[in-house]
Amino acid sequence: MKNLVILGGRIVDPSQEIDQVGDLVIKEGKVGFLGRATLNEDYPRIHAGGMVVTPGFIDLHSHLREPGFEEEETIASGAEAAIRGGFTTICCMPNTNPPIDNPGMVEYVKQRARECNKARVFPIGCITQGQGGERIVEMVSLARAGVVAFSDDGRPVRSSEVMRHALEYSLLTSLPLIDHCEDIELTHGTAMNEGRMAKILGLEGAPAEAEEIMVFRDIALAKLTGGRIHIAHVSTQGTLKLVQRAKEEGIDITCEVTPHHLLLTEDKIADYNTKAKINPPLRTEKDREKLVEGLKQGIIDAIATDHSPRSYEEKACEFDLAFFGISGLETALPSLLKLTEEEVELKTLIEKLTMGPASILKGGKKPPLFLPSPLPPGMGMLKVGAPADVTVFDPQKEWVVNPAEFSSKGKNTPWEGETVKGKVMLTVVGGEIAYIDPSLEVEG
Ligand SMILES: [Zn+2]
Repeated sequence: MKNLVILGGRIVDPSQEIDQVGDLVIKEGKVGFLGRATLNEDYPRIHAGGMVVTPGFIDLHSHLREPGFEEEETIASGAEAAIRGGFTTICCMPNTNPPIDNPGMVEYVKQRARECNKARVFPIGCITQGQGGERIVEMVSLARAGVVAFSDDGRPVRSSEVMRHALEYSLLTSLPLIDHCEDIELTHGTAMNEGRMAKILGLEGAPAEAEEIMVFRDIALAKLTGGRIHIAHVSTQGTLKLVQRAKEEGIDITCEVTPHHLLLTEDKIADYNTKAKINPPLRTEKDREKLVEGLKQGIIDAIATDHSPRSYEEKACEFDLAFFGISGLETALPSLLKLTEEEVELKTLIEKLTMGPASILKGGKKPPLFLPSPLPPGMGMLKVGAPADVTVFDPQKEWVVNPAEFSSKGKNTPWEGETVKGKVMLTVVGGEIAYIDPSLEVEG
């Protein structure tokens, strides 16, 4: 089915400054019309009264674990979780086994994503071979094979010299380096924020400075080289200040924040809750407030889930031994909608889930030098004539988070058992219905 009319929803597309109740007509897989449709054509119809209709969400930061860690997630289960969460596009991190550090691996991920035919999946390539931090990957070959960014995420690039050369080399592709900023000599695998709660619990903490030192270094290296950096999962107010100043100086930098860092603080760990154990750790209320502020001010460009599915055994253990991560794709929307009650406008949230990440993928200050882009045209917007990637959600619908019902194999969520508001009802990828809530009917 490539034709569809979504009737009477609140269409919100920040890229075109649209916020109006109307109909969205999808014709032959493309956005055909926005407004009041005159229905003389015999298209299938969905009534979306009271619902919000937006461009499909885009996630810059998902861990899909395949190959190598299929007990945690597969590309198919991750892509299914994506469409249930309203994400029509996800970018998957390369810390698999083997890692995505050569064109063959890029092709493998693309092939698996095509087979499951759910969300669009774009691979991110490693910065260094095997994420070993020493030898830089063949960036141009990887870009030709279809990666949309480079990252050693899960670990930092420790050597300043390697990072410098990676930034220089990446200029040939114009693709960003997604930067996991952590001075591991200051964190050495610790599990939470250094501060009040760590003291109460008697746990070792990771100071905010462990993140900020590396952010500072890589901003300096981006300035030196002219390369593009994208700071992953910003968690501290200090990082935000550094990014703001770098942007003011004209450095080619963007950044993302996760839903959990916008919503939760270190207090979530009070009972040694391994489900809130993540890297970077949840910080203080002051940090959280500043991150929300940074989102509103536009210092933060995108919201990214850092979807990190873990097996039951990896979380059901002592806090110190538990693995990092939150399975985030299926709870991103309702958790973020909590922010609209007081702190953030809906339009801002939608922007950071759609045009924000799209503009990072589409290019920084410099256009790609010679590579054809793997990205669909009109990404991140409901642009007439562009492939119809659409998300429809009911902002009022309440549901209880039950991880057993997740499509993701990762059941690790700090939202477990909570009643949340906001449910994805329909996800359309390239004009095809990829997910539809059982309560929603297609007429005609
Ligand atoms: Zn990371």
